[in-house]
Amino acid sequence: MDQSTIPHWYAPDGDVLELVEGEGVRVSDADGNEYLDFLSQLYSVNAGHSQPAIADAMAEQARKIAYVSPSKHNDQRARLAGRLAEKAPDSLTDVMFSVTGSEANEAAMQLARDYQGASKILTRWRSYHGSTYGAAALTGDPSTRAAVEEHAAVTGHAKFLPPLDYGGPFSADTPEELAEQAADHLEWVIRNEGPDSIAALFTEPIAGTSGAYPAPPGYFERVRELCDEYDILLVSDEVIAGFGRCGDWFGIQTEGVEPDMITFAKGVTSSYAPLAGVIVNEEIAEHVGEEGMPVGQTFAGHPVSCAAGNAALDAYEDGMLENVRDLAPHLEARLRDLESVPEVQDVHGRGFLWSVEFGRPDGEKDEFLFDPRVDEGENPVAAVRDEARARGVLFGSGRPDTQVLVAPPLCTEQDDIDRAVDVLEASVDAAFG
Ligand code: PMP
Repeated sequence: MDQSTIPHWYAPDGDVLELVEGEGVRVSDADGNEYLDFLSQLYSVNAGHSQPAIADAMAEQARKIAYVSPSKHNDQRARLAGRLAEKAPDSLTDVMFSVTGSEANEAAMQLARDYQGASKILTRWRSYHGSTYGAAALTGDPSTRAAVEEHAAVTGHAKFLPPLDYGGPFSADTPEELAEQAADHLEWVIRNEGPDSIAALFTEPIAGTSGAYPAPPGYFERVRELCDEYDILLVSDEVIAGFGRCGDWFGIQTEGVEPDMITFAKGVTSSYAPLAGVIVNEEIAEHVGEEGMPVGQTFAGHPVSCAAGNAALDAYEDGMLENVRDLAPHLEARLRDLESVPEVQDVHGRGFLWSVEFGRPDGEKDEFLFDPRVDEGENPVAAVRDEARARGVLFGSGRPDTQVLVAPPLCTEQDDIDRAVDVLEASVDAAFG
């Protein structure tokens, strides 16, 4: 099909796959080639491709009544909200729907500022929170920020914490020490900025597009304590980490911590239809009830999307989270074998979200010295992914593009994991050998 009227910003050279069919972890292109989709497209088709029950639920709702505006009641919407609140940590009780993850973060940002009467928001350098002006302003990925920085006065309100990985400024010998240093640094930032001026701390419970990096043990407990002590809202951006991707319904639950808000998107419908939102605690919900909020979009909580959401939750409840928990150790062990390759710097992640991170081809370990966006020449990590694609497995890229990201659908079986990692090993050999 002629694609020339769509600018392919993801693949400007025009070498773009046209995917026409899918089933479970498999997708096929217009030429009939089959691939294992080891990124679930964008960490989003969590229940796998072409699940008939999700498609049927959407069709049924569309036949009944396709659209009901957010100012009217709809049974699919109410049911989904109830189920989401039930799966979220206990203190989160109410759901405000939006359409995209960026808009969910915009809404959470507006809510936090309005509720707190303060404007600053803490986020992490090398985080991703979305592409609209506000959400991009929260985003610590330099390339996303560069796109809005010049034009958006709002960017001045975001204050960035260093990344928690080895590229950050901390010099800890153990993960526990890293947790302590990072939390001490957070407290320093809070005091330095002035606690009264800070509305919220937005954080991914595990870094997503910047590289599947879990926080060191104990870090989030300290974060929760500091947020309580200084009256700062803790917002967990679960757009990638939520809906079983990391083994629990929400990534922050693995950390044993209750945030004040959760933002979600992608996996809520397994991306069969656009849907996102914010799950808030009772106090914030009451505040919205009393004060109203300038948030909300025409398609927020679209009934067809909510029908997809309810059917996706059924699929997750029907053994998919257990599948992630059962097979994550196997996926981890297979990927960790790659650590013996000299060019592989580190393997990190959780559940079905992993990054194989490459250092410089000369073995240099400082990732900030190797940034394919500014470095001249061919990116060897992109070559690994190209080799894998030629062998029938699709992996993802991270920011910066020093990584191969691995995030298969939650229904992926052990044989497919083995095949995908075999292909990755062969692709690393071919790219670096
Ligand atoms: N937050 C995180 C953690 C994300 O990874 C993304 C998208 N990848 C977003 C927010 C933005 O979501 P959307 O693309 O649906 O606007």
